[in-house]
Parts: sequence; C-alpha cells; structure tokens
Amino acid sequence: MACAIVAASSRPALSPGVSLAGQDMIAPDLETAIESLRRMFDEAAMIVPFTGAGISTECGIPDFRSPGGIWTKMAPISFDAFLASEEMRIESWRRRFAMEEHFRKARPGRGHRALAALHRAGKARGVITQNIDNLHQASGIPPEDVIELHGNTTYATCLDCGQRYEIDWVRERFAAENARAPTCACGGFIKTATVSFGQAMPEIAMRRAEEWTRACDLFLAIGSSLVVWPAAGLPLLAKQNGARLVIINREPTEFDAVADLVVRQDIGTVLAPFAER
Ligand code: NAD
Ligand code: ZN
Repeated sequence: MACAIVAASSRPALSPGVSLAGQDMIAPDLETAIESLRRMFDEAAMIVPFTGAGISTECGIPDFRSPGGIWTKMAPISFDAFLASEEMRIESWRRRFAMEEHFRKARPGRGHRALAALHRAGKARGVITQNIDNLHQASGIPPEDVIELHGNTTYATCLDCGQRYEIDWVRERFAAENARAPTCACGGFIKTATVSFGQAMPEIAMRRAEEWTRACDLFLAIGSSLVVWPAAGLPLLAKQNGARLVIINREPTEFDAVADLVVRQDIGTVLAPFAER
C-alpha cells in the first residue's frame, strides 16, 4: 500500500546505526558557515539539496511552523476531511484563494538561486523539495530535476481522473456556483495538486528521492522542520549511506545532533554567496 504523509508524533523508530545522541556541529558564525559550505561543496561529487518552506519565507510565502506560521493560526485540513465534507472542501479552497496573491507574486529567493547555480555547475543532481510553490522550477532548474514530494499548489487536478485544472478556472467556477467546491466533468473532486496529511505519497517521486539520496555524498537539508514523514527520513537515509549531512535552519531541529554541519542562520544570507557561481 502507498505510504501516507504524517506529522512527527507518528514517525517510525530510527533505524539502527543512526543515533540522535552526539555533538552538534554548529557553525559559530556566518563567515565560518559560508567557508565550511564552500569547502564541502568543492569536495562533494554529488550534492542533493532537500528543501522545506523555510527557503521560501523570504519570497513572501509563510511557512507552517515558524512563530506566526500558518499553523499557529489554523489547523490543517486532512485528506479524509476533504473527501468527507463539502464544507471542508469549500474551506480548503477559500484558504487557497486567500494565498493566491502570495504565490502569484513570489519570485525565487537567494536560496533558490544558489541551488540553481549548483545545478548548472553540475554539482547538484537536482532538488528534492517538500515545497508546493514551484519556485525551484522558476529559478531555472528543469522540472524533471525537481522532485516534488508534496505536490504543487499552483494548479489543481481531479482526484479521480487526474485532469488538470488551473487555479483561476477553479476560482471563477467557485464564484459562479455561489461558493460550491467545483467538481470535474467525470464527477470527481477537484483539489490543488498537493499531498495533504493522510494522503498517499507520490510513489515515483519518493522512489527517485530515495535513489538520489543513496547516491549523493553531500545532503543539504534546508529550511525544513524535519517533522513531516516520510520526507524527514531522507536526511537520515543519506547519513546511513555515508553522505555528509548539512542542516540549515534558523531554529534547532531534531536531527542536528547527527549532522556534520548545522547552520543556524538565515537561509538567504548564508546561500547568497553561492547564488552567482
Ligand atoms: P515547516 O514550516 O515545518 O518548517 C520550516 C522551517 O524553516 C522552520 O523550521 C523554520 O525554522 C525554518 N525557516 C523559516 N524561514 C527561515 C529562514 N529565512 N532561514 C532559516 N530557516 C528558516 O516547513 P516544512 O518542513 O517544509 O514542512 C511543512 C510542509 O508544509 C511541507 O510539506 C510543505 O509541503 C508545506 N508548505 C510549503 C510551503 C511552500 O511551498 N513554500 C509553505 C508552507 C508549507
Ligand atoms: Zn475527473
């Protein structure tokens, strides 16, 4: 059966060989962090960046778990709730329309541009992302080199037949039908092309992400709270396979103790020097 997306409380036990006890390797300041990153990038044969909402906060898209993040304001709507109730489908669309300005205006930030430069230089295979904002593609990384683990919110699909719908179309229908959640010609529910809690992970994307993770010698976990599973298992998988692990996040994460380098700085600031390589 396909693996469903879950939050931390139900995460699987850590694999043997990966211990969370250990010495944090926290970069003492910005300069040291940049210098260490430069050395690690130079030494790496294959880098796999793995990104979360934190890389896009400077682009005006709020994350979920920072103070003031979306979930400090409203609880997420699970996949089951979306399927079960018209009221929840309507609420889910209302929230999506409320975010439209943010998504439409957002342009790639310094972090996105740095990863695009690593990709252009042949250093990074591509990007594995939990983000749904399309900004890695917008930064110039070809779509086939962006693995989206949680889908994409810049368009919608029918849950039954897979037909694609544009957000503008959905919004017009929503207005024309007096705030009813639109359905597909086949009768299926239309939903943003994202993976909600309780919804199955995209199997091919997850399999490719695991392959890249096993093959890399440097894994960069950037701007993720690392609490959404199974995506959060990837940094540990990389580590188990002998890769170096770097975590860039202004807040501590549960996996800092297994990382080779922890950078507790603003992502844009620390990655800016790599943006024009
Ligand atoms: P999260 O909100 O759980 O965590 C974001 C992390 O980034 C936090 O730990 C925060 O400390 C850090 N952060 C934020 N801004 C930063 C900055 N400027 N510099 C350094 N660190 C910064 O996000 P997640 O781990 O990606 O998981 C949330 C889920 O929500 C994902 O599955 C994703 O699909 C979805 N989401 C996506 C977007 C997006 O596409 N931009 C936005 C919100 C949520
Ligand atoms: Zn359909």
